[in-house]
Amino acid sequence: MKKLLPTSTAGSLPKPSWLAQPETLWSPWKLQDEGLVEGKQDALRLSLQEQQQAGIDIVSDGEQTRQHFVTTFIEHLDGVDFEKRETVRIRDRYDASVPTVVGAVTRQKPVFVEDARFLRQQTKQPIKWALPGPMTMIDTLYDAHYKSREKLAWEFAKILNQEAKELEAAGVDIIQFDEPAFNVFFDEVNDWGIATLEKAIEGLKCETAVHICYGYGIKANIDWKNTLGSEWRQYEEAFPKLQKSNIDIISLECHNSRVPMDLIELIRGKKVMVGAIDVANNTIETPEEVASTLRKALQFVDTDKLYPCTNCGMAPLSRAVARGKLNALSAGAEIVRKELSIQP
Ligand SMILES: [Zn+2]
Repeated sequence: MKKLLPTSTAGSLPKPSWLAQPETLWSPWKLQDEGLVEGKQDALRLSLQEQQQAGIDIVSDGEQTRQHFVTTFIEHLDGVDFEKRETVRIRDRYDASVPTVVGAVTRQKPVFVEDARFLRQQTKQPIKWALPGPMTMIDTLYDAHYKSREKLAWEFAKILNQEAKELEAAGVDIIQFDEPAFNVFFDEVNDWGIATLEKAIEGLKCETAVHICYGYGIKANIDWKNTLGSEWRQYEEAFPKLQKSNIDIISLECHNSRVPMDLIELIRGKKVMVGAIDVANNTIETPEEVASTLRKALQFVDTDKLYPCTNCGMAPLSRAVARGKLNALSAGAEIVRKELSIQP
């Protein structure tokens, strides 16, 4: 990116109410068959337009074609039985009924590649596409086949690599892997989490990102955050290895979080998507608040490597709030851009 402080979002944006019930995760589709295919494309166009009107520089599909950032990808794979459900603990935090891995996991055909091609046709701006990361995928399943988190993660990494290569060919500029699980399973992150992530990006020429956050603004995540104390140092565990990894960009939750900003020093040299928008409340940040978060981050990120972003996806918010937050992100980044341009 030539532009200083290019803005983007972590991924999901609210869906229109005619497509799915708003402010709800895993919201069922309101359309069927051909109508649904068309509806998803229309929603993608709208989501793109809202990003463009807000002045967002690196745009996405707003995840309009998926019900959930992990589940929708897995639904398209073989080897997972969605009827056979078991209750497991997600990210050590809350119990959920999840599908079962019953055989070898494989990808028979591309999952999001057509959607990405459609987005590519709509804009000349840089586009970013999000995929779930291997560790976060295994954490939302019951594994009755491999019986090894690590083995299953390696299988998913291979599948993600196939998908990523096709997304790159479809014209995606940045492929992002969502790994909120990196903030929870520290030993596994260092033993094989980052290795499987690097498998997922193997051979890619486009830019790659990993998004590590404290989750959507749902109750289970907010309750968990309340147990983390006055300083959240979880990033400290994965950062040294991530700094040495081949990943280009690291996307983080910063605004309104208790993450000490100086932890970012540990990934010096990487591009950093700094979360300057809180997705866990409906209060729209002022541009000055956004600018203040970015200024703090600039102490630890080189100017040309700072990408203002949201803390996480905004799918659970109302469209009006999400729009307000996108505008604030752009305006806040512009304040800091101006300050940087008048410095000697
Ligand atoms: Zn997130």
